[in-house]
Amino acid sequence: MQVAIAAICAIYESTQMLPGLPITGENAGEAGFMVLSGPISLDDEHGESQRALRSAGRRYGMEVRLINHTPDPEITVAVAARRCYSSLGSEEVTSGLSPEDVKKLIDTIVKAGHLSPTEHASFTFAIEGVSRSLSHQLVRHRIASYSQQSQRYVGESGFECVVPPTIARNREALDLFEKQIDGIRETYSKLSEIVPKEDARYILPNACETKLIMTMNCRSLYNFFERRLCNRAQWEIRRLAREMLECVREVAPGLFSWIGSPCEMHGYCPEGKMSCGKIKSNGIQRGEV
Ligand SMILES: Cc1cc2nc3c(=O)[nH]c(=O)nc-3n(C[C@H](O)[C@H](O)[C@H](O)COP(=O)(O)OP(=O)(O)OC[C@H]3O[C@@H](n4cnc5c(N)ncnc54)[C@H](O)[C@@H]3O)c2cc1C
Repeated sequence: MQVAIAAICAIYESTQMLPGLPITGENAGEAGFMVLSGPISLDDEHGESQRALRSAGRRYGMEVRLINHTPDPEITVAVAARRCYSSLGSEEVTSGLSPEDVKKLIDTIVKAGHLSPTEHASFTFAIEGVSRSLSHQLVRHRIASYSQQSQRYVGESGFECVVPPTIARNREALDLFEKQIDGIRETYSKLSEIVPKEDARYILPNACETKLIMTMNCRSLYNFFERRLCNRAQWEIRRLAREMLECVREVAPGLFSWIGSPCEMHGYCPEGKMSCGKIKSNGIQRGEV
């Protein structure tokens, strides 16, 4: 059946293997999402839609870019670590470090859990094509800086939507979803003509697409990755975490090669009864130890 929907941008089709971070069959399937925006049909399991959107030069789902970071992040962290263990003056302590020295210093602090030197390296990401549902979860990570597209200043008539894969793959669910979104778009447009945008936005859905700039230091990223790479995290923020990890591993592999979900790092699951079952739980839940 030909289902005309108000648009589709993309099922996330790649499993994007990261070194040390296998993406399992279960979570690879969940990693998909679409952004709705203009009319297109859903005939061939979305492949046709994706091709059409790509060839039309449209944005394709979630986009994560590392737009800036501390210059030489690994050296910066190594110098900060060396400062702790050395009486050298500022000039000497910041010079003469070989790549082996840098690696050794980073390995030492990571193994010891003495992570404050990693706070000196920061990473700034431009993120778009994510839902307000995701951004609400994201900003719970307090040790970070955020700038998000405002729904007070930027109109949302014709807003795009992130569609969860469970809805995208189910015609009945997608029809219901799309019908509701169409209604919201129409009502929002009418409302925003008679009340300020900041009030019209109260009817916008969690699915509404948003854009952010976010800066986190390395230590906060460790915490973010550990929480959000776990299968217990929701598919959308888990995918964001994987994309971010891929970005930072490119520029600072020595700082990020070891980080992953708790089970990947420690070999057991701290989620207890809530475990996804990927690895045997140790029966102890977070916070009980
Ligand atoms: C799978 C999953 C399910 C979740 N479910 C829920 C839910 O149902 N409801 C809900 O409300 N949240 C939920 N969360 C959000 C979670 O509780 C955290 O708010 C979120 O993961 C941010 O983590 P954080 O506080 O460690 O990060 P940050 O805010 O970046 O803090 C980093 C670290 O700094 C320290 N820190 C920061 N602020 C303080 C402070 N005020 N006092 C003491 N130490 C501090 C802590 O050690 C903290 O771990 C969930 C998260 C995950 C991953």
